[in-house]
This record gives sequence, structure tokens and C-alpha cells, in this order.
Amino acid sequence: MDFSLSEDQRTLVAMLRRFIEEKLAPLEETVEREGRLAPEVARDLFEQSKALGFYAMNIPEEFGGGGLSTVDMMLAEEQFGRTTDILIRRSFGNVYEVLLKCVGPQVERWLKPATRGERTCSIAITEPEAGSDAASIRTAATRAGGGWVLDGKKHFISDGLFSDFFVVSAVTDPSAGGRGISLFLVDRDRKGVTIGRDQPMMGLRGTSHVELFFDRVELDDQCLLGEPGRGLGYALDTLGRVRLGQVGARAVGKATKILDLAVGQARERRQFGKAIGEFQLIQKMIADSVIEINAARLLLWNAAAAIDAGRDARALIAMVKVNASETLGRVADRAVQIFGGMGFSRDLPIERYYRDARVYRIFDGTTEIHTAGIARAALKSGGALYDPVEAV
Ligand SMILES: Cc1cc2nc3c(=O)[nH]c(=O)nc-3n(C[C@H](O)[C@H](O)[C@H](O)COP(=O)(O)OP(=O)(O)OC[C@H]3O[C@@H](n4cnc5c(N)ncnc54)[C@H](O)[C@@H]3O)c2cc1C
Repeated sequence: MDFSLSEDQRTLVAMLRRFIEEKLAPLEETVEREGRLAPEVARDLFEQSKALGFYAMNIPEEFGGGGLSTVDMMLAEEQFGRTTDILIRRSFGNVYEVLLKCVGPQVERWLKPATRGERTCSIAITEPEAGSDAASIRTAATRAGGGWVLDGKKHFISDGLFSDFFVVSAVTDPSAGGRGISLFLVDRDRKGVTIGRDQPMMGLRGTSHVELFFDRVELDDQCLLGEPGRGLGYALDTLGRVRLGQVGARAVGKATKILDLAVGQARERRQFGKAIGEFQLIQKMIADSVIEINAARLLLWNAAAAIDAGRDARALIAMVKVNASETLGRVADRAVQIFGGMGFSRDLPIERYYRDARVYRIFDGTTEIHTAGIARAALKSGGALYDPVEAV
């Protein structure tokens, strides 16, 4: 078993790290202060990143993307985690793999423009009354003529102010429960689509999170993504790799960056005539963070390798989601402690990292929901989840 990186992988990581440190990190404080990324700066970042081949690296080359394997994409996503959400979105794209369900004319209408960065997309599943229980949504699409009519509302939709279209979950067969939900591609300029409030959040400044309202929105047949009734299944399958990257890998990258700062502080800050890193209670916080980050990364690579090998990785992805997000929370909390008052002060970015870290345990399925899923899988399959001899 060899966990070392190849030369190509090292080059990818080094180039991304340099781009993030030189181009993105200097913008973070301005975005935090102003709550937005200026459109001309966003455009410039996009062009620079695209020229280096960093945009939509997760999408296969045949559709214009970078065609990275899951393992390589996770290496990239870990680096993305070292900066903020909005800077990642504008520089590297959030081209959701659910768009790979596009067929025929849908490819030119939605998938390829998204991959080229000409149109951006948000995923709209959550509703005020249906969060963890995604099967209980009320948004519905009914057959009308040769198409559909969409009615309902969504909330907390990331990047909604900027997005050109939305992948929306809607009930198409009310008698079939979770099997009666479909996904639709909904352009923002369709009559009856209203972008509501930008819902203020604890962190992730610069990214909008909006309410969406659909009032008798007429959709042609092409707007149905995949087969009717399979929407929840698609969301589970294709959003799995997104969850692994955008939550798991980014959490590992963020935790690594935060720990770098905490270690630096423990070396430099002197109290009682010593560097605080010489106190065992501080050392314990550092050692626990080192162990947990390494464990989280190995779990991440294991799940990524399982996907690349074509194995069912759903439970592995859930483990990464829980482990990496909880690790990030603990590492960020310890960093605040190691920095003391300066960790709480807005004069340093530590408090911002702490706020931004909190949502990792909530979005894309909460810790509790994924934990319950892991337990269900273990009770069903026994050792296959935790014994390599029995793993399939
Ligand atoms: C910043 C941000 C960005 C987001 N972006 C998007 C987006 O782009 N698109 C989108 O569709 N959604 C998005 N969401 C929504 C997000 O996915 C949901 O918030 C999340 O799935 C939880 O749903 P909820 O908020 O309704 O909480 P609830 O489902 O109401 O849960 C509340 C609490 O109850 C617990 N709970 C619920 N059911 C169970 C159970 N069966 N067992 C044990 N505990 C349970 C939960 O774990 C949680 O602790 C975003 C949310 C945030 C905060």
C-alpha cells in the first residue's frame, strides 16, 4: 500500500497552493469586510484560473472539464479548502456532477456552458419545511401539455444570487413518496421564478444563500434531468462525490491551514518565559489535531479510491463527511484557544475560520443524518464496513 503522491500529483498540489496563496488569500479580508467579491475581480480570477486549467477539473474532458480522477480531485479540493467559499466558486467553479445526467440537447444547453464557466448553477433541494427529510418536499411539478408546471419554494440555496440556473427537486408523483421526486433544470429568467432574500449567515461571507420561489413556472420537457422519479437517487449518488470534495476534502484542507497557524503561534508566543508550545496542555491540543487531520485524510483517500475502483462508496463518503467536519470543528476550536484573546479578536482571521468551520457539520446532510446512515449500513452489512478482509 503506497500513500505517497506521484510527481504529477505533487505538481498539481503545488500549483494550486501557489495560486491560492498568491491570488486568493490576499482577497479574503476584503471579501469579509465588504461581504462581496467585486464582479471585475471575480472575472479576473476566473480567467486566470481557467488559463491554468483549474476550472471544472471534476468534469470529464469530453465535456470540456479537467477529467481528474476522484483521488486527484480530492487532492485539489483539499487545497481549495485553504481559502474561502466564494473565492473557490469563482476561481475553480462549482460544476455539480449531477449535470452529467444531461443527455442530447441538454448537454449544449446546460452542461457544457457550466463547464466552460459561462453559466453557473446551484442545487436547490432544501425547503423551509424539508431539510434533513429531503423526501418530504412540497415543491411539485405537474404535467401540462408537452412539459411541466413547477410550483413551490426553496431556501438556503448557495450562490443563488449569482446562478444562471438551478437544479430543483420537485414531487412529480405524490403517491410514490421518495420515489416520486424528480430533478429539473430551471433557468433563473423563466417567468414565475423569483429570487428571494439573501439569508444572512454566521460565516461564508461573500456567498449568497437565497430563498427561491416558483409560481406556475412553465418548463419544457428538456428541463427534466434524468428519469422521472429518480431525483432523490441521483442526488444521493452524484452529490456523494460533491460531498466528499466540497465538504470532506475542503474540511481537511481548512483544518490543515488552521493547524499551521496554531503551530506557528505555539512556537512564537511566549508566556512565563517560554514558548507556549512548551506547555504540555498546548502540546496535547496540537497532537490531537495532527492525529485527527491525518486520520481524516486517510479516510478521505480511501473513499476516493473506492469511487475510482467503481465500488459502492456511500457509507465511506458518509464517514468522511462526519469525521472531517467534526475534525475541522475541533481543530478550529483548539486554534482559538491556542491564540487566546487574539483567537477571539477580529484583528486575526482565526475567529473567521472558526465561524466558517461550523456549517461543515450541518450542510450536505448533518452529522446526525450521516451517522444514522452509517449505523444502518453497519447493522445491515456487518464487517464489510470496518474489516478490510470482508470489504467488497
Ligand atoms: C450555509 C448553508 C448553505 C446551504 N446550501 C444549500 C444548497 O445550496 N442547496 C440546498 O438544497 N440546501 C442547502 N443548505 C441546506 C442544508 O443542506 C440543510 O440546512 C441541512 O440539510 C439540514 O437541514 P435543516 O437545516 O432543515 O435542519 P433539520 O432537518 O431541521 O435538522 C435540525 C436538527 O435535527 C437533527 N435531525 C433531523 N432529523 C434527524 C434524525 N432522523 N435523527 C437525528 N437527528 C435528526 C439534525 O441533525 C439537526 O441537528 C445549506 C445550508 C446552509 C446553512
